[in-house]
Amino acid sequence: MTATPPAIQFDTAAAVQRLVRFLGINAITGHEAPIGKELVAALKEVGVPAKAISFDDAHTRIPEPTPIGNLIVKLPGTGKKSAKPILFMTHMDTVPLCAGAKPKVVGKRVVNELEGTTALGGDNRTGCAVLVTLAAELIKQNLPHPPITMLFTVREESGLFGAKHLNPTDLGGPVVGFNFDGRSAADVIIGAIGADRWTVDIRGKAAHAGVAPEKGISATMVLALAMAEVYEGGWFGKVVKDGREGTSNVGSVGTLDGKSAGDATNVVTDFVHVKGESRSHDAKFVREITAAFKAAFTNAASKVKDHEGRTAKLKFTSRLDYVPFRLKSDAPVIKLAESAVRTLGREPNLRVTNGGLDANWMVKHGIPTVTFGAGQNEIHTVKEFVDLTEFESGCRVALALATAE
Ligand SMILES: [Zn+2]
Repeated sequence: MTATPPAIQFDTAAAVQRLVRFLGINAITGHEAPIGKELVAALKEVGVPAKAISFDDAHTRIPEPTPIGNLIVKLPGTGKKSAKPILFMTHMDTVPLCAGAKPKVVGKRVVNELEGTTALGGDNRTGCAVLVTLAAELIKQNLPHPPITMLFTVREESGLFGAKHLNPTDLGGPVVGFNFDGRSAADVIIGAIGADRWTVDIRGKAAHAGVAPEKGISATMVLALAMAEVYEGGWFGKVVKDGREGTSNVGSVGTLDGKSAGDATNVVTDFVHVKGESRSHDAKFVREITAAFKAAFTNAASKVKDHEGRTAKLKFTSRLDYVPFRLKSDAPVIKLAESAVRTLGREPNLRVTNGGLDANWMVKHGIPTVTFGAGQNEIHTVKEFVDLTEFESGCRVALALATAE
């Protein structure tokens, strides 16, 4: 192991002030305009020239209404001419539970004055503050660095849409990516799971269950037979096949408007809408799990018949939520991440997560990207707070990454 260089000093008070400022902006997922504006203002205040700042047009491709595109900042390199561009990224939106949060600093934490009512938004205004602090310190301390692209995505929380729909050519060709979205600055996420969401509409036929049940086609029975088949085939819950692992689940079962399927015990149930999901770190296996459900429903539908031999009709739809990835442990981006964490005097903890990240899409776009934490805690709950020691460590990791040769 090589000796670690001394950590770079930076204005922690200004960084915390920036964090509190961003936490106070009411801009949940799908309503990012106010935080986009505030980030631009904060970037200009620390000396980023206006021409380095732009918004892309990802929002024109996102299937949900989104007011602005991703914010992209390009800082020209100031070090070695041969240095390749690197990417720093984070998401600017917060979950809807954060609406109206009032941040306040208490000791080494930022908490919510409205604790118990709303979440705080450290997921992911901590990342926003890390990136703006990085720009501020690089400029103020005149630190040599490679060309840097900063990306603040929209709609991460509602489906990773900003990262999914960006145009990679807008990013200026970064060779590695560093995403800030998590708890501990020493945790380096090098892989994440992939997932499918699927739905099935089972259309049977109603009939009086007491007078002429043979004239009906029970959608409930189709569901039951299909579930029995996936269960017996080993495709339900934790799924292990030939050393490959994944999971599956069936969530809601009912009508399209969320009511329970079937009207009365004396009517053969004519319609059931089912929602489920499949997950795995192996993209092909995600599709295989989903295909097993589709096959089971199709098979079950062919078995449940009325007196004239008619069967239930099925509509099975699935969509890829996000693609899984797993960076190779000797990938240059991981080596860079590890030495940056060591400048904190800590050992990096390489992890794979069972949730989706913007990094899933960046890897798909061809930019190997790892994810660090910067103080988020109890996210998506009304007990959320930010750990300022981890936040400051996140800022230090970013500075170390930007100034490593
Ligand atoms: Zn997040």
